[in-house]
Amino acid sequence: MPEAAIITRAEQLRTEIQQHLYRYHVLGAPIITDGEYDALFRELVEIEETYPDLRTPDSPTQRTGSDLSEDLPKVPHPAPILSLSNAFSTEDLQQWETRNLKLLPANIQLDYVLEPKLDGLTIVITYSNGILTTAATRGNGEVGDDVTANIRTIPTVPLRIPATDNGKTAPKQLTVRGEVLFLKTDFERVNQEQAAKGLPAYVNARNTASGSLKQKDSRITASRPLTTYIYDIVAVDGAVPDKEWDILAFLRDMGFHLIPDAAYFNNLSQVMDALSSWEARRHNLPFEIDGVVLKINDVAIRQELGFAGKDPRGATAYKFPSEEATTKLLGVTVNIGRTGKVTPTAQLEPVFVSGVTVSNASLHNYDLIQQMDIRLGDTVIIKRSGEVIPYVVGPVEGARTGEEQPILPPEKCPHCDTALIKPAGAVDLFCPNPRCPERVFRSLEFFVSRGAMDIEGMGPQTIAILIEQKRIQDEADIFYLTAQHFEGLEGFAEKKILNLLDSIQAAKERPLAQLLTSLGIDGVGSTVSGVLADRFRTIDALLELAVQVKQAEAAFLQEAQPLIQTGTSLLEQTPEAQKAQLRLQNPLVELAPRYMDSQDVPKKLERLLKPIWEAAPPTAPTAQTLAAALAHLIDVAKPLMQIEGLGSVLVSSIIAWFADDYQRSLLHKMRQAGVNMQAAESIKAGNALEGLTFVITGTMSVPREQIEALIETHGGKVSGSVSKKTSYVVAGEAAGSKLEKAQSLGIKVISEADLRAMV
Ligand SMILES: [Zn+2]
Repeated sequence: MPEAAIITRAEQLRTEIQQHLYRYHVLGAPIITDGEYDALFRELVEIEETYPDLRTPDSPTQRTGSDLSEDLPKVPHPAPILSLSNAFSTEDLQQWETRNLKLLPANIQLDYVLEPKLDGLTIVITYSNGILTTAATRGNGEVGDDVTANIRTIPTVPLRIPATDNGKTAPKQLTVRGEVLFLKTDFERVNQEQAAKGLPAYVNARNTASGSLKQKDSRITASRPLTTYIYDIVAVDGAVPDKEWDILAFLRDMGFHLIPDAAYFNNLSQVMDALSSWEARRHNLPFEIDGVVLKINDVAIRQELGFAGKDPRGATAYKFPSEEATTKLLGVTVNIGRTGKVTPTAQLEPVFVSGVTVSNASLHNYDLIQQMDIRLGDTVIIKRSGEVIPYVVGPVEGARTGEEQPILPPEKCPHCDTALIKPAGAVDLFCPNPRCPERVFRSLEFFVSRGAMDIEGMGPQTIAILIEQKRIQDEADIFYLTAQHFEGLEGFAEKKILNLLDSIQAAKERPLAQLLTSLGIDGVGSTVSGVLADRFRTIDALLELAVQVKQAEAAFLQEAQPLIQTGTSLLEQTPEAQKAQLRLQNPLVELAPRYMDSQDVPKKLERLLKPIWEAAPPTAPTAQTLAAALAHLIDVAKPLMQIEGLGSVLVSSIIAWFADDYQRSLLHKMRQAGVNMQAAESIKAGNALEGLTFVITGTMSVPREQIEALIETHGGKVSGSVSKKTSYVVAGEAAGSKLEKAQSLGIKVISEADLRAMV
């Protein structure tokens, strides 16, 4: 008999879990994270497994969840849609295999298929004679909500299988299972669109996907960038392969969109060796995953193993450690970055999350604090994910006591007392003072860092001393440092000074792209810098462009002045007038990108500015003159605006930076000191890979973009999928289906080291 304490704990867990389920499903206001819930649930499962007598019929472990909606028609599934048991450690996985082996004849060697565990919404789709007939949500596992019309709007779902004429035939009846979700970038885009409409951001991608799919009007679903991955067969009338790995190939042949990163393993120890690399890859995948699914490759063995309770024994979900936790928000500090950007930082009650104790986290910006209604004293969910700085996901509204206080944005910079500003189109506050001591420190710290000018021996401490002792005031001063500047400073031996001066000398020769990155222009990281250096070739070209754009902008604003004045007097009246006014005042951000490739600009301006024009005095410009001024602005700004990936806010920020007197004098000072301001003749590193096409699969020792750049700068091409035209497949750890395909097509597979040897 279990001890009394265990009986009490089991009761306690049952009650607690029920309450959390109620909060999650009925109130829609959970007060703990999924990870914390999993931990409670797991503890209860463990107690019940050890002491089966304690398992009560009303225990939450005895039922599977349901996501049925009241107002959608129901569809019965041809076979139960099961959930999987969870493993949280390699020990769990080992025990899972050991338990399975005991149920099987001796000397069976199990091989496995591993797939990322998508964090989406389960979908069950049926095809009759190759035609999509129904699609349903998981529901309660037996019956789901009918979402056929909505599923049809998702481009990755084939309406007929096989999707292409490839000589295969579809089974008479086929029901497949998959997941509906937003890719990370698509979800960001959805939220950007929300923000543009002044609507609150969606916090949870899975819930948003679920809401999008359960719309009564499929046009709404169609407007959301949902995607689907298919990974299993639920029921089939016809022949299908008897190995999981071959089933995936079969599904691919039918034209389904498969998870691109499935992998095959000979045995469990290989799987376990690969787990940490999967966890690391998690953040590079285009979709959210919370673990990996492991299935025994042999379908007959899976069937033979049967079920443990409601879970099939032949597959399990290995969950990564939780990246979210809840804790108390104790205070908010104001951080000023090198661009002057204000980042509110949450001071938290220390909490342990994904391996470290976190006591502060980013709150992004004050707009978001207001949108999410985060208050001082709130219990908040924080997330620590990969290399990203921990951040606050949102408040736990259900945990409020009423004592919480609103968080107000600061009005002045805490370091220089300058009034903070919010530029047009930006969500962040900025300290606009380029001489703000905190900004100077942060920008110098960044300027010399490894990713920027890479001045060895010049760490934040040296920077702080040099600023404090007034030996330097800005980035350019660094290039004027001599041995004398270090006189009387503690900790600078002669040798150290010489080394430092040497690295400063070397930094003068850095490539233009590196210099551009180092300048710390908001939004201009190494990628954008590379493109700018490539297109403009010299700093002078950028300086000249900025002057011309500013002049064209000023000319437009002067032309528009009578209208802007009218608009100001109208502001209280209509939102249309406000919108027109905002656009008129920020032509580079608001008008130029809209009308860059437009016909009939005068007519469009007339329509946009109608509420202002109607009240404007006779001195107001005509639509033609205004359109001409805008055309001139577009014309001069075009070299920047045409670059793919540069949004209008970024274009405007680049122009503003290069037009700024302070920054111009800084660049002038650097030039006088001999800092390189030109791009080298060609960025091409060689042509060893000329005419060759590469496909990259699996984990590389460096981010995949670097491998792609390596191939491209040596004249090669990179493709996303393996075909007969592929010259080589570069395979890393945990290489998936692409490797398999390469082998089947007889394409040469090489390692990252082989590739490096080739160049
Ligand atoms: Zn300041």
